[in-house]
Amino acid sequence: MRQIDHYIAAKSVVGTSGRFGDVFNPNTGEVQARVQLATAAEVDQAVQAALKAFPGWSATNPQRRARVLFNFKGLIEKHMDELAELLSREHGKVIADSKGDIQRGLEVIEFACGIPHLQKGEYTEGAGPGIDVFSMRQPLGVCAGITPFNFPGMIPMWMFGVAIACGNTFVLKPSERDPSVPVRLAELMLEAGAPEGVLNVIHGDKVAVDAILHHPDVKAVSFVGSSDIAQYVYLTGAANGKRVQAMGGAKNHGIVMPDADLDQVVKDLVGSAYGSAGERCMALPVAVPVGKGTAEALLERLRPEIEKMKVGISTDADAQYGPVVTAAHREKVKGYIQMGVDEGADLLIDGRDFVLQGFEKGFFIGPSLFDNVKPTMRSYQEEIFGPVLQIVRAETFEEALALPSQHQYGNGVAIFTRNGNTARDFAARVNVGMVGINVPIPVPLAYHTFGGWKRSAFGDMNQHGMEGVRFFTKVKTVTQRWPSGGAVEDQAFVIPTMR
Ligand code: NAD
Repeated sequence: MRQIDHYIAAKSVVGTSGRFGDVFNPNTGEVQARVQLATAAEVDQAVQAALKAFPGWSATNPQRRARVLFNFKGLIEKHMDELAELLSREHGKVIADSKGDIQRGLEVIEFACGIPHLQKGEYTEGAGPGIDVFSMRQPLGVCAGITPFNFPGMIPMWMFGVAIACGNTFVLKPSERDPSVPVRLAELMLEAGAPEGVLNVIHGDKVAVDAILHHPDVKAVSFVGSSDIAQYVYLTGAANGKRVQAMGGAKNHGIVMPDADLDQVVKDLVGSAYGSAGERCMALPVAVPVGKGTAEALLERLRPEIEKMKVGISTDADAQYGPVVTAAHREKVKGYIQMGVDEGADLLIDGRDFVLQGFEKGFFIGPSLFDNVKPTMRSYQEEIFGPVLQIVRAETFEEALALPSQHQYGNGVAIFTRNGNTARDFAARVNVGMVGINVPIPVPLAYHTFGGWKRSAFGDMNQHGMEGVRFFTKVKTVTQRWPSGGAVEDQAFVIPTMR
């Protein structure tokens, strides 16, 4: 069986733990590879490689660092088909969606190519008599990234793209469910000109994560995954003196106002609720029609659109979505559907019994649709992360606004309306980090910044954009005065001020 090894100092490294994770092909249900699960000593080996590479890389001028990223961008484009195929085979998302996953990561690399400009400091000439003040953004050292299964291309690139551009070296601990693309990205970074040890990949589970969180030479940890683990990573990393950003789970709402373009809304809701089998932190798994008439009109259009959806294997170009990542995850999603039924919501479309002919052992689940879901239901309060859309009816705009605002998660939200005032008011008042106005998946572009609120993110700096540059650098401020040959100044016993 194929074995996926660590990638340390530009070499494939066989682990010694004797522990492995199964990597499935979600289309067939077969185990297609096994991945190493690292010991703390192996994590240390990766950190040491990154530590050794740091002095050279951090002293490399920013234009040269940018050139490596430019080369990397070209290599990703050249290998797009190969990467997308590899990604789909382990994740299960359809090929076009895998290309989107890689493309969105690539956009962060494009952003990071601007690092000579982005990392420029600030300068004040003549802050006082003969005194100038300047500040610079310096890299932190060895940084680590811990990533989830659902975007094995994009999320690693969010992290190492910006971190490495800033002059840091990096240890990536990708999801053990789909670890091949991250290793391939590290190989391509080497080919692009990143010196050995600048980007290392260590595979593993909690043992590896804990080793990262307790390692004295890891200066910053960027995490994306589920909220309980995000919180644990944040608290443990911070307790060990690290800078930590930890993005968590989500339950995004789409508010449908009575004046919305319902034909467009239906297309948007179906794509964003069921695309990638609902395994997106920016999916829209909750729709909130405002008013009875809106709800009825929405459902009338929504049902046939969902019923005609095509679920298929990842290489089926006509399929709208593929299998979920593991059998265990499919059972979890089915459990939430049963919970919704038990709690009294109306299950209008039940995808639980869906079987794909010829792929009976694949981890497929059909689309499900609930109506009359109530905010008090646990199936509403928790993240399902599967192809399930829940309709929560609201009587008024204020009631609709309160739903995402009061939910434990605050990642993304969307409002569909033709009224600019309503949209503006909503965007200003909703207690959520990323807002779409007639945009169903409001993932900010690379030069803006990605991050949710409440239990969707711990720590206070977002991914990519200038927030990413700030996260992966520390500011040093220099106040300088050069001898001008004038009179010697007296000692000052009071704090100097600029009068
Ligand atoms: P997960 O939390 O299970 O795993 C994320 C990472 O944590 C993996 O690398 C995993 O190996 C590690 N991990 C797992 N269990 C651990 C433990 N007990 N201790 C320490 N580390 C552990 O998440 P997942 O299932 O891979 O991904 C799906 C989740 O990620 C969803 O909740 C989704 O909403 C979230 N997500 C959030 C964002 C965002 O930006 N907010 C983006 C993508 C995914």
